[in-house]
Amino acid sequence: MKRIKYVIISMVICIVIISIYIQPLSQRNIGGTKEFMYIEQKNLISNDNVSNGFIATPPIMLDSDTKENLTKFHIDARKLVEEFPTTFFTCSNTQQKKVAITFDDGPDTKTTPKILKILDKYDIPATFFVIGENAQKHGDVCKEIISSGHQLANHSFTHLRPTDVSIKTLINDFEKCNELLKDITNMDIQYIRPPYGLVTLNQLLVLREKNFKIIGWSVDSMDWHTSDKDEIVRCVIDGIHPGAIVLMHSAGGSDNRVATVHALPTIIESLKEQGYNFVTVEQLLKE
Ligand SMILES: [Zn+2]
Repeated sequence: MKRIKYVIISMVICIVIISIYIQPLSQRNIGGTKEFMYIEQKNLISNDNVSNGFIATPPIMLDSDTKENLTKFHIDARKLVEEFPTTFFTCSNTQQKKVAITFDDGPDTKTTPKILKILDKYDIPATFFVIGENAQKHGDVCKEIISSGHQLANHSFTHLRPTDVSIKTLINDFEKCNELLKDITNMDIQYIRPPYGLVTLNQLLVLREKNFKIIGWSVDSMDWHTSDKDEIVRCVIDGIHPGAIVLMHSAGGSDNRVATVHALPTIIESLKEQGYNFVTVEQLLKE
């Protein structure tokens, strides 16, 4: 009887050991999980030959709510591009190694000047989607953005949530920002990034009539989500593709985007090594 007991216990131990061994690596909750998930995503997604409507999936650990929101966001963006292919853009269809880095939510006097300095050091242009309320306070930084060869663009006046307001309220907010930018720079701005990248089909209908170009992104640096410099670098480098529009921030957040400033030189150097040329959004979409 005792012997049978030993045999049964030994068999149970063997089954447990075997089942752990054959469990797929990606499902194991061990230190390397992050890496295995990353590899899985790389196998599923190829960034070659992508076209307008594409948005890369960030290769970092995300909670289920964020993941779900991003998935919905990607599906909605694809629909907007299908309906408005010459008004709404996540990226360019070019096969040339060109990339447009964009910075939202500025200008400020803490971070935007640091970013301008880095761009100047590498001698590359970028696009700044500024908030009207901030541009009103820091008109001189707006002027510096233009005189340094960058593109200045509209990110609304009050950073309202487009899907929560009427078409009229949204258009008024965009136009108020444009009027201010015209006062500061004497330029007519055609390029708009709606706050949070959100815009509806009905809103796009009106925005198209007004001849605006609505700009999303295909590569999200996730600098609004993580303050880990390495994760920001990984999000950009992993998602990059010819014709990419990269989302970053030049102001705001709880720490004025310290990690963005730290990540930017590494990102620029890595993209240069890969043979990418840097252009403004306008240059990217006009080619
Ligand atoms: Zn924003």
